[in-house]
Amino acid sequence: MALRTRGMNLGAARAYVKERFKDVGWNRLVARLPERDVAEVWDTLILPTGWYDYSVHERFLDALDAEFRPVEPDLGRELGRRAAQSDIRFYHSQTIAFVSPARVLDQCARLWEEHYSEGRLEVEERGRDSFKIVLVNPGVHWMVCSETVPGWGERAIILAGARAARAEHVLCVRKGFSHCEYVVDWE
Ligand SMILES: [Zn+2]
Repeated sequence: MALRTRGMNLGAARAYVKERFKDVGWNRLVARLPERDVAEVWDTLILPTGWYDYSVHERFLDALDAEFRPVEPDLGRELGRRAAQSDIRFYHSQTIAFVSPARVLDQCARLWEEHYSEGRLEVEERGRDSFKIVLVNPGVHWMVCSETVPGWGERAIILAGARAARAEHVLCVRKGFSHCEYVVDWE
């Protein structure tokens, strides 16, 4: 089955662009997208728990990169940080407790499955303030594995109470590895 993503992923992307680049930026971005994507998804009420075709997200990220990379080199990480904020607000009120950085990362595996229909995250503790995270990558956009996932992780850890956090993408399927891998440290 083709990869699908939850509406909360798309909703966070839309919110990021509108907040960061305002309506004028949003309109420029939308002008780069197929009319059908705009009419069926971007101009609608996006249901956070609904499933959407992943190609919609892919075309959006291509357009985002083309339109805004020149003015915002940190684009994908910013998007990840914004997504972490809405996810944590969403889940915090539900069943997942974000009480410490270690606990937040522990919940990551489950959060991946809440966002994507395929692939998975495996979290392995390296030390008290350090984790290794393996992403069995189902073919998400390059910006997601190399920028958005680390940006998400850093912000989630900060929101869970760390003073500083760093997530490094150390292996990538785009470089021929069988999976993507991250090392996450915090203080
Ligand atoms: Zn990767």
